[in-house]
Amino acid sequence: MNGSMMQQPLLVSSLLRHAERHHGEQEVVSRRVEGDVHRYTFGELASRSRQLANALRVLGVEFGDRVGTLAWNGYRHMELYYAVSGSGAVLHTLNPRLHPDQVVWIADHAEDQVLFFDLTFLPLVEAVASRVKTIKAFVLMTDRARMPAKTSVPNLLCYEDLLAAQPDHFDWPSFDENTASSLCYTSGTTGNPKGALYSHRSTLLHTYAVALPDAMNVSAREVILPVVPMFHVNAWGLPYAACMTGAKLVFPGPFLDGKNLHELFEAEGVTMSAGVPTVWQGLLAHVEANNLKFSTMRRTIIGGSACPPAMMRAFQDRYDVQVTHAWGMTEISPLGTVCALKPKQQKLDGEQRLAIQAKQGRAVFGVDMKIVDDEGKELPRDGKAAGELLVRGPWIIEKYFKGEGGQVLVDGWFPTGDVCTIDADGFMQITDRSKDVIKSGGEWIGSIDLENIAMAHPSVAMAACIAAPHPKWDERPLLVVVKKAGAEVSRHDLLKFYDGKIAKWWTPDDVVFVDAIPLGATGKVQKNKLRDQYRDHKLPGA
Ligand code: ADP
Repeated sequence: MNGSMMQQPLLVSSLLRHAERHHGEQEVVSRRVEGDVHRYTFGELASRSRQLANALRVLGVEFGDRVGTLAWNGYRHMELYYAVSGSGAVLHTLNPRLHPDQVVWIADHAEDQVLFFDLTFLPLVEAVASRVKTIKAFVLMTDRARMPAKTSVPNLLCYEDLLAAQPDHFDWPSFDENTASSLCYTSGTTGNPKGALYSHRSTLLHTYAVALPDAMNVSAREVILPVVPMFHVNAWGLPYAACMTGAKLVFPGPFLDGKNLHELFEAEGVTMSAGVPTVWQGLLAHVEANNLKFSTMRRTIIGGSACPPAMMRAFQDRYDVQVTHAWGMTEISPLGTVCALKPKQQKLDGEQRLAIQAKQGRAVFGVDMKIVDDEGKELPRDGKAAGELLVRGPWIIEKYFKGEGGQVLVDGWFPTGDVCTIDADGFMQITDRSKDVIKSGGEWIGSIDLENIAMAHPSVAMAACIAAPHPKWDERPLLVVVKKAGAEVSRHDLLKFYDGKIAKWWTPDDVVFVDAIPLGATGKVQKNKLRDQYRDHKLPGA
């Protein structure tokens, strides 16, 4: 017997409708690429999104068409989030930090019909415009006054002109909730990038999960500044969660350095933020160097790569900003786990509490997870056994866009490529990505542990640990370190720093000091590049 409840599809447009009706006065503040600060309300967001939806029709965008964006976090990008998906087309956020060849490859693969882009990316679009195969219209996200006098981009359109020509009434269509809403490609550190194609249903369910108290705890009382880019996995769902809850949004545009972020936090009363560890490093360095504090910031969600405990300590002990560690993937929309403490853990303090916070956390409801050995046999949840993490749930991909890579699921589970443990309380901890694991004499060494220890050294700004070839052990850990400005530390002192903190045989065999560690388009260390670079590195005693 069926229940007798209404059949209402879960649609992205319903979030906007809700935000306008119930939080119409709430602010969206954006630091624009033009440099100034723009301010409007959810009410204006909704009305301009309707104008944009009309403009998309004029541009010939049809149901299911892909619409590309190359844009920072800002209100116009937010309008595209709602207008494109809301009208039944697919929002394809491209990562502007990728090489132009990759941008062309991805836009062609997605068969983007229109490309919207920020002023900053005019040179990039000029470099790719004649090469992309399917894009019929290029729209610069600015006003008439800032349109370039000369450009090689064919028939360049002006965003504000397009909107101004349209009425602000538009009836958001209703359709099957399984319709595709947005598309994001993985960084493709190995092989070609592959697309994760989200649906309206998966996006809405993910948004409910993101907003939960033990997830990102988003509410009408929060002022959120997402540092995590809207071009990478929908800024972890925050632009949707803000509309669902009525939280104020503050967008930093391209100004992601410590000084600009701190100024915006203070000026707008930001209470929470979210981003990858590399961004927070710049912020902490700025705050420390200038003896600043945070007057309204209470917490930050850190994920995308492992958050070193030293960074948590700095935020929490020195600045009273609570750090919540989270884990996710492009293929998972992205939220998988959040490290929200259980009551018994809240009583812990100091290092014991940090040891739990360093874990990637518990599965949010909707995500089921398990770890398996090389034969696919499930491993115990004892916090010790390490194996590959498999996940399943309604916002996890079943296959990649256009079926690339073939069958990806294993008995209905998505293999994440992350190696981790799960403890009896359900807390997952990543020791490595399977492709980054260091295998010494057949035994795994967790590079994240080694990096976390190095990062706790007062002279270390950044550390990455990779496998270097070794004639006897096959691989041994090599530590690559960037020193803090003006700081001094020797190889010997750094290696000594590991004493008593890990099993002796885990200690790196060597340290190399470098000026910078290569970061990928989403701010993560490119270990494959480092491995290539140090392929012939001769370890002492090898
Ligand atoms: P890619 O880097 O391939 O584009 P994603 O941005 O989707 O992919 O990143 C997913 C991967 O990032 C995860 O599989 C995991 O290896 C890593 N990751 C994400 N969050 C964390 C975290 N909190 N700690 C450690 N690794 C993380």
